[in-house]
Amino acid sequence: MNKSDSERIAGILSEFGYEQTEIEKEADLLIINTCSIRQLSADKAYSKLGVWGKWKKTRPELKIGICGCVAQQDKEKVRQRAPYIDLVFGTHNIYELPTLIKQIEEDEKVCAITNTPVVCNQNDFKIIRKQDTVNAWIPIIEGCNNFCTYCVVPFTRGRERSRRPEEIIQEAKNIIKEGFKEITLLGQNVDSYGKDFKGENITLANLLRGLNKIEGNFRIRFVTSYPSDITDDLIDAVEECDKVCKYFHIPMQSGNSHILEEMNRHYTKAQYYQIVSKIRNRFPDVAITSDFIAGFPGETEEEFQDTLNAIDELELDYSNTAAYSPRVFTKAGKMVDKFLSEEIKYERLERLNEKNREVCLKSNEKFVGKVLNVLVESKTEKDGKVILNSRAGNNKIVHFEDETKNIGDFVDVKITKAQTWCLYGEPIR
Ligand code: SF4
Repeated sequence: MNKSDSERIAGILSEFGYEQTEIEKEADLLIINTCSIRQLSADKAYSKLGVWGKWKKTRPELKIGICGCVAQQDKEKVRQRAPYIDLVFGTHNIYELPTLIKQIEEDEKVCAITNTPVVCNQNDFKIIRKQDTVNAWIPIIEGCNNFCTYCVVPFTRGRERSRRPEEIIQEAKNIIKEGFKEITLLGQNVDSYGKDFKGENITLANLLRGLNKIEGNFRIRFVTSYPSDITDDLIDAVEECDKVCKYFHIPMQSGNSHILEEMNRHYTKAQYYQIVSKIRNRFPDVAITSDFIAGFPGETEEEFQDTLNAIDELELDYSNTAAYSPRVFTKAGKMVDKFLSEEIKYERLERLNEKNREVCLKSNEKFVGKVLNVLVESKTEKDGKVILNSRAGNNKIVHFEDETKNIGDFVDVKITKAQTWCLYGEPIR
């Protein structure tokens, strides 16, 4: 989501004559788009601002801005840590940038943080997407109504707001015309898409059906799914639509029902297992990935074991893992008496990562001998040979050699070797 927001910010700035530079130190305007999902990300943002602050001492004309979730969360307090900042704007204020930029160009110090979004037709604004990639992101819904007890997103991104399907389909058509080969629909909870358009039958499933009708050779993905919001209609739509990848990212967060309840996740371990089995029965080569937190407040060793077992039993293709990090505003952040020591959290995280590596390898080995249709994303040179780096519809990374193929080509590749994080293969000629 932040990458996508940054592309939108770059687009708006380009209309004011700004051009992107790869040389950070030479920029006239530096904006950091921040994430506050964990304390580490917030700390990194402030450390970067510290470096820029030193540059501003020798170049006072340099303008510095901060946006994203840390800005939304800390508001004016950002200036207590970095008083030299010219511009602070929140997650709801990106489309106010044209006004905000004018203000800072006139040497005003600006802080624009609202709790309600600036309403606009997002297609009225230019988006600068990196042309050296084949994938383009399209936000379809922002915010979240779920209030998981560990998560700051509902506080920094607000309640769920969907974009109109006509607007999304128009953006997708433009993207395909520009030559992108894959679009990824984004949302903190994509399965909630359309619920705020009451009585209009606007759903993620129907949006996929609409996008699938766009002419051209391209693929569609969507992230992130909330387990209990995945409907049968969505699974039907994924099956019906040939352009939609057979890939689901469904964060489980814990393999223990008591911890799930403590996290305010609206499903049990058994319900999560049912969803995974329903999807796997429908799509044999599907990949299902997940997210897990190690060391949630009060988590016992037995409860943590349930998480390790779940990764094994569900044969998850990959899991993002993190040690629990207390966040401001959240319920879990106040469970101080139940906090586990850093030592326990990181020891569990290490075991989680070990399990993840083991299960990923097993999952990849299942594809040896099979043929996957892949999209070439980049090329690298190794020992004088050109290696094509590609991704299958189910999100598996596949490397192969073929001098006749280029970035953006779809190729059928027979898998010959599996490693923990990737597959190797030979093109079918
Ligand atoms: S569903 Fe995801 S974004 Fe929403 S509160 Fe829970 S973890 Fe945060």
